[in-house]
Amino acid sequence: MSRIIVITSGKGGVGKTTITANLGSAIARLGYKIALVDADFGLRNLDLLLGLEQRVVYTAIDVLEGQCPIEKALVKDKRQPNLVLLPAAQNRTKDAINPDQMKQLIEQLDKQFDYILIDSPAGIEMGFRNAIIPAKEAIIVTTPEMAAVRDADRVVGLLESEEIKKINLIVNRVRPEMIQLNQMISVEDIVDLLVIPLIGIVPDDERIIVSTNRGEPLVLEEPPSVPAMAFNNIARRLDGKEIPYLDLMAVHDNLVTRIRRRFFGN
Ligand code: ADP
Ligand code: MG
Repeated sequence: MSRIIVITSGKGGVGKTTITANLGSAIARLGYKIALVDADFGLRNLDLLLGLEQRVVYTAIDVLEGQCPIEKALVKDKRQPNLVLLPAAQNRTKDAINPDQMKQLIEQLDKQFDYILIDSPAGIEMGFRNAIIPAKEAIIVTTPEMAAVRDADRVVGLLESEEIKKINLIVNRVRPEMIQLNQMISVEDIVDLLVIPLIGIVPDDERIIVSTNRGEPLVLEEPPSVPAMAFNNIARRLDGKEIPYLDLMAVHDNLVTRIRRRFFGN
């Protein structure tokens, strides 16, 4: 059985696609077989973040229309052979596909992979239901802004009403220096508000923007940067390991080397 996990949020633009690409690559690095499913049928961008847009020939829509078997639509990652992408269709409206069809697609992938991550549109958009219907687990992404946290709270309710019981939280774009100055809501406060288990904290870091623009998930870079370590840690926590959280404040103070020493012994 595959672990089928939807990456979702209340508010748009909080980093779902970025997290799907990087977390997916981090999971593949652990040696698991993984499929990333782009369920954002309006905005096809998971392929761009993975640098796979040139390799997309068939999409999920072609599979549903019987134009090709699902194996033909799966795009193999050029760097990691155990990672594939099921692309969404380009230039289609978001309701080009219904929840039953989405279930049908995921059923065809189930059991072939250890993990299936579904990149969803935001919780307020159409297409959100498509993404959550086949999922057994969810990762909610929020940024440390009140509006995003409030919308995330609404999504927790929606997921629970769809019988998705296993829900974890990623707080993305954290800026420790702003939290220290009380200019940003803290991760602890977000967890208190949402009452779902925290599985990761990702710093706000321009290297993430640079790497996604290049189509190269930053978890593949050597030596790993601090945001890459954050994604690798999330992958291992998903895998059931207990991994301490990075001290992002120390990172901010440019003590990156100290952390490296602690985690990698160099
Ligand atoms: P969503 O899929 O939720 O709409 P995206 O993954 O497309 O969000 O991210 C929205 C924007 O935020 C992108 O430009 C992305 O590069 C940027 N971004 C996401 N996470 C981070 C981060 N941790 N640090 C800096 N920029 C980020
Ligand atoms: Mg997205």
